[in-house]
Order: sequence, then C-alpha cells, then structure tokens
Amino acid sequence: MTLTLKDWQARAAALKPDTRLFIDGTFVDAAKGGKFETVNPATGEVVAELARGTAEDVDRAVASARKAFKSGVWSRMAPSDRMSVMRRFADLIEAHAEDFALLDTLDMGKPISDMLNIDIPGSLMTIRFFAETIDKMEGVVTSTKADALHYILRQPLGVCGIVVPWNYPLMMAAWKLAPALSCGNSVVLKPAEQSPLSALLLARLFCEAGGPAGVFNVVTGFGEETGKPLALHMDVDKIGFTGSGEVGKLMMVYAGQSNMKRVTTECGGKSPQIVLADCDDLEKAATFGVAGIYGNQGEVCSAGSRILVERKVYDEYVALFTEAAKGMHVPGNPLDPATTMGPLVTPEQQARVLGYIEKGKAEGAKLAFGGGVPAGFNAGCYVEPTLFTDVSNKMTIAQEEIFGPVASIIPVDDLDHAIATANDTIYGLASAIWTSNLKSAHRFAQEIEAGIVWVNAYEAGDATTPWGGFKQSGNGRDKCLEALTQYTQTKSVWIELS
Ligand code: NAD
Repeated sequence: MTLTLKDWQARAAALKPDTRLFIDGTFVDAAKGGKFETVNPATGEVVAELARGTAEDVDRAVASARKAFKSGVWSRMAPSDRMSVMRRFADLIEAHAEDFALLDTLDMGKPISDMLNIDIPGSLMTIRFFAETIDKMEGVVTSTKADALHYILRQPLGVCGIVVPWNYPLMMAAWKLAPALSCGNSVVLKPAEQSPLSALLLARLFCEAGGPAGVFNVVTGFGEETGKPLALHMDVDKIGFTGSGEVGKLMMVYAGQSNMKRVTTECGGKSPQIVLADCDDLEKAATFGVAGIYGNQGEVCSAGSRILVERKVYDEYVALFTEAAKGMHVPGNPLDPATTMGPLVTPEQQARVLGYIEKGKAEGAKLAFGGGVPAGFNAGCYVEPTLFTDVSNKMTIAQEEIFGPVASIIPVDDLDHAIATANDTIYGLASAIWTSNLKSAHRFAQEIEAGIVWVNAYEAGDATTPWGGFKQSGNGRDKCLEALTQYTQTKSVWIELS
C-alpha cells in the first residue's frame, strides 16, 4: 500500500517513540534527568522530548559495552550466529522502514520518499554487505623459518564510539555500525541532537534480532555533553566520526588528550564537477549537476557544489542546468510522497545558508536563480534552490562548505585549469568529470585530490565502493571491505617450534 500525505500525517500525530537512552539492552532515563526537544523543521513543532545524556550516562554505556565485549557474548560468538543476528537486524529494519522514514523526516526534514528510496535501501545494503563478511574474514599464516609458526590474527577493537550527523541520520549510523558490529565490537552510538530518534529504534531492533544486551548502546544529547565525554573516554578504543571538519579535528585532539584511541573521520566537502566541452551529453551532465547539489536540500557531504565548466560550453551548460532545475527539486511538505525538497534542518542552518547567499552577492557572483525563502514556506526552514554563475574559485561560496542548496558555476579554460581549480580547496571528498575523452578522464582520476571520482556519473556507488576523503575531508573509508580494517586490529602470534 502506498501511503498518502494524509496517512503519513496521521502516523506522525500518533507517534510515540521511546525517547530514553538505550543502555545495556533497555531504555533508561538520563542520570541527571535532563531533557531536550527535537523540532520538525518543516513546521517548527516539537516532535519529541528526549533524554539529555551527560558524562555519567556515557560512563554507564561504555561500562555496559565493555562488559559485553569482555564476556565474549558477541565478540566471540560463532561467526555464523553473528551473521544470523545481523541478517535478522537488517530484516527488522526493512520491516520497520516506514517507522524509520517517519522518524528521520520529522526530525530533519528530508522528503519521506528519499527516506524510502535512498536512505533505507542504502542502510540495508550496507548492513547486509558487512553481515556477509563475518565468516569470510581470515587471518594469515606468514612465511617464516621452518621451525616456527607465525600467524596474524584479526581481532575486534573493543568498544567503538560512533558519532554521527543529522543529514542522513539512519544511513550514516548504519554505515559505521555495520562494520563495527560485524567485526564483533561493542558500540556506543551518539546521534546528532537534531535527529536522535531513529538511532533509538535501531538499537532496540538489534536486541530484538538477538543482539546481546550491552553490545549496542545509544546515548542521545548534545555534542559537548555526550560526544565529548565519549571521545575523551579512557575505555573507548575507537571513535568513528562523521560530521564537520571542525568537530572532526576535535575528535583527534580528544584522542590525544585521553588514551590515543583510533579515530576515523568523514568530514565535509566542496566537491567539484568538471564539465569539458567534449562531453557528449551535456543535458545529462546538467541533470546530474542539479541532482548533485539540490538533492537532500544540499545537505550532503559530497554535494557537487562547485561546477567547473569549460568556457566553450559554459553558456549552453548554464541554460541546460537552469532548465533542468525547474521541476527537479521543488520545496514542499516532506511528508508528502510527491515532495522532492524539504526544509533545511534548523533555523540556524537556514540563516547560515542565507548568509552565504548574501556573501556570494556581495563578493560579485551573479545570482542566476533562487536566493531566498520560497513563497508560502515561511513557517519552516526552507531555502530555494539557488544558482550563482560567474563565480571565482577564490570567493567564499566556492571555498566554504555551505551545506545547503546553493550551486556555484565557475568558468574554466581547459582541463589543466579545471584540475588546478578543482584541487584549490582544503577539502577532498568527491569529484566528477564529464567528458568523452578517456585520456582526460584518466588524467583527472590520477590528479584530483579526492577520495571519490566519478566519470560521467555523480553519486553512483554501492556497498563495495569506498566512501571517504583526502585532505580535510577526513581519513576514514565507510562501506567497502577496507572499513573492516578500521574496526579490527591485527595481532602477530609467533610459535617457536625449535
Ligand atoms: P557536527 O560536526 O556539528 O556534528 C556531528 C556530530 O558531532 C553530532 O552528533 C554532534 O552532536 C557531535 N559533536 C558536536 N560537537 C562535538 C564535540 N565538541 N565533541 C564531540 N561531539 C561533538 O556536524 P553536523 O552539523 O551534524 O553535520 C554536518 C557535517 O557533516 C557537514 O560538514 C558534512 O559535510 C558532514 N558529513 C560528512 C559525511 C562524510 O561521509 N564525509 C557524511 C555526512 C555529513
């Protein structure tokens, strides 16, 4: 049955999620009894009041995670049994797809159709991919002298703190939980304060799937009050972080100030899409350009926010982009299945994005369309899809991550100029080139300073494709087999036989 706007609204009105912390397999109040609210950015209405975790709660969650880890109830569970739990976990998430869709849409405003078509399938694919790896991870026997046996064991790290942002609440959590749990670690998840509800349902379902108590804990609350004590904790072995560069750097500082825990970071971006004059389908390039910046309201780490177009096709590309943008991402009620663009996450984020638009104008970029709050949407945190043309790469809008629906089109002379401009940023997450010349594509792939390269595509990928950045976009790789190495450590075992 396809749900209508009315159905979703009725479900939203009836929503009664458990909003306490999830520690040791059960819902509990915060030690200090504090609360905070999440607010629907489409309406300004309170969605729920949640437990406001503090250092005491982090201590409880870490202790429970450590106890579970040491007991071996999960970390030494037979791989085939752990696989069964992870598979059941995925099946339960799928069975609750509509609940997850509703929770994230109400919390952070993304279109409910995006939840059903992108976030939930993306989360399931990743959990199922890592579940499959559990009994396929192998150690190694190395070639040493004949009267010795040396082997390398790959073991879980212990307790992993996972700190995630609000732009894909369920999917960002799933990308990290899936390898962490599959490898046998225990986890304390700290969701973003703007979007904490889906994390709590996730933890409950893990236990329903047969996951032992204490293996997956959730502490909701604010960054300084919960994320910081988690990252500073002496008994946490690793922080898997996705979020801003500013907080990513703090995570590394906290690790240095505490127990040198491992830190992987997935941070922001200012990702370039290069369009060369020899691109044989400029219309497709323009359509992907539009989707690459306005999808998820532009609140995407890999948003293709800088579009570098060779001068020979510059005017034609701008015209095609403008045309393609007209019907693709239209602001609406995110609970309406027909809506393709929701509000930004908070009034602060809306003000920040509008501030960048003012800066773009002040620094001399040409506002081609958008630039304000769409008519009739004053109650929510909406910003229109916005395009600046004639942007210089030195402008603030071309250098700083806006994290909103604001595209900059920058003219470039040729491939050399395009690559130099593309690399002229502190970030290095994603990148793309649109060309029919194989040599140009390959040269770009070699020379671009970015963790992800698309040729004649944007935002393509699956669970096998590494996700992570160069430079200040971070050092981790989500999805892909490499993630397994980030949630395990090796042990060298030498048996002297002489
Ligand atoms: P943020 O850095 O403000 O917050 C991320 C998380 O860190 C939240 O849970 C927050 O509560 C917590 N936090 C904040 N301050 C903290 C502190 N002092 N100590 C410990 N924890 C703290 O980021 P955000 O605004 O939630 O998300 C947007 C950012 O996330 C953007 O920069 C975006 O590019 C990035 N992001 C990156 C990826 C990727 O894969 N590279 C994916 C999604 C989002």
